[in-house]
Parts: sequence; structure tokens; C-alpha cells
Amino acid sequence: MRIYISVDMEGISGVTRWQDVISTGQDYQRARQWMTADVNAAIAGARAAGAGSFVVEENHGVEDLCNLLLDEIDPEADVVRGIPRGGATTIAALADPDEHFDAMFLIGHHAKAGDRVGIGAHTISYGDYRSVRCNGRPIGEGEIFSVVAAGRGIPTALIAGDDVVCEEMVACCPGIETAVVKRALSKTGGWIVPPVRAQALIAEAAARATTKLVGGELPVAAPRIEAPFAFEIELRQPIEPAVVASIHDHHPEFSVDGDRTITFTHTDMATAYRMAAICSFLARSGRVRSY
Ligand SMILES: [Zn+2]
Repeated sequence: MRIYISVDMEGISGVTRWQDVISTGQDYQRARQWMTADVNAAIAGARAAGAGSFVVEENHGVEDLCNLLLDEIDPEADVVRGIPRGGATTIAALADPDEHFDAMFLIGHHAKAGDRVGIGAHTISYGDYRSVRCNGRPIGEGEIFSVVAAGRGIPTALIAGDDVVCEEMVACCPGIETAVVKRALSKTGGWIVPPVRAQALIAEAAARATTKLVGGELPVAAPRIEAPFAFEIELRQPIEPAVVASIHDHHPEFSVDGDRTITFTHTDMATAYRMAAICSFLARSGRVRSY
């Protein structure tokens, strides 16, 4: 059994505030250790229940998406990191047609931008995007990835993060196992399970998820949203009129609604995710080379 693991940083055990996940933060180097240990816990739990092969892909957008400690990661796992990866995407291995996976785990993921605040909650861009909607509803990175996975016949089997992201993923991926490693009190405050205890929770949840997979008890659930995927990226700042004109001239596949919402539609979610990620660059420059 081969498992794809997407790892982000805001939902890692111990991580509480934005300073924990950027290079200048007091605890950033320590958070990299927690991040690596959370992944190792998921691998150990899954391995004990019968999984044998793991690809870990980094999803945290600082330091060019290189945050795991390669000396400490389980040596049997492969790691996908750095940018670009054939476009502005953090799911290169998941979307690779030559790859096959039996399940996806989400480790250290965070809640989506929206009303109910999770620790480090945002969708795609913490600084630039106020909200990301798909087919009229706010959507988070975990759900986007789960739609891509489902399209490839891959169930989303485990989420590890705060209580808010776990609840969000249960709502869109029935049967998913959860490891709640902290309870959000705000975007930057929480009730924290210390990493060593949290990693035991992750290992147990990964073992439960793998046992379900081995027993055929976790079929691929039909996503809540279906193609075509109509995205609305609401930015925090207005876009300059000259930039709007340039977007319309050079990228007719995107529209600008009002002064700060970029919209587009695509039938393939992996492509739509790349398009959503590029909007922060489009909003600044009005033109990008490729996505
Ligand atoms: Zn992140």
C-alpha cells in the first residue's frame, strides 16, 4: 500500500502563531522538528497497520516550500519539495499521471479562510486572499486536494491538525480518520496538546485509517462539488486598474469582478488549483508566464 502525504505547517502539533511558521520566528526551527516528527508518526502508524510505501509532499509556502528536516524524516519515505514543480502547484506527485497511490493523508493542514477561525486559517495565500470560493461556497486546501485525489480514485484517509480543520475535512470526506492535535481559540491562540503526545494521537489515527483501507472500508467518497469548478478569489487589497486591464488583455481565462475578486472556471481541479494559486501574482503584475 502506497500513501501520499501532504504536509503543511500551520496545523502541526505545537504550532500556534504565524511566527512559528516563518523563518524569523523564535520557534520556527523547532516547528520544523515537530513537522518532521508529525509526518514520521503518521508513517509509523500506517506502517504498523500494513502500509509499505510513502511519498511526502511539502505544502508550506515559506523557504520555497522546503521545511522538513531531511536528516530526521523516515528514511523509507520520498520527499517532494521546492518550487516550481511543473507549475504553481504543491500537489505535483498527487496529480502525476504516472504515479499511483492507495490513499492520501493530510498532516499539519489548517482550516480554510472563513467565518470559523482555526489556527493559521487561510486558503492558499495567508497574506493576499480574504476568501476562496468554489461553486459558491468557501473552500480550503484540504478539500481542493481531496477533490483532485477522488478524481484519481484515491480516498482521503487521515487529517491531522486543529479541531476546526478536522471538522471541515469530516464534512467533505466521510470516513476520514482525525487526529486533533490542538483546539483553536483564535487564529493565533489555542489549547495545545504537546507534540510528543500529539504524535502518539497521529500514529494511532494513521493506524486506524490504514486498517480501514486494508479492509476495504474506506471507498472513495464522491466530492461535494462537481466540475465545472467556478472559483472566486477575493483579495484583501484592490487591484490597480492598469493591472486589471493587463489581466483581461493577457489572460482572458480570468475575469476581475469589482475591484478585488478574480474569477475563473475550469473542469480539472488540479489545473484550477494552479490557477487559484497564481492569482496573487496576477493581482500584482497583471501578467504571468505560465501556471
Ligand atoms: Zn502553510
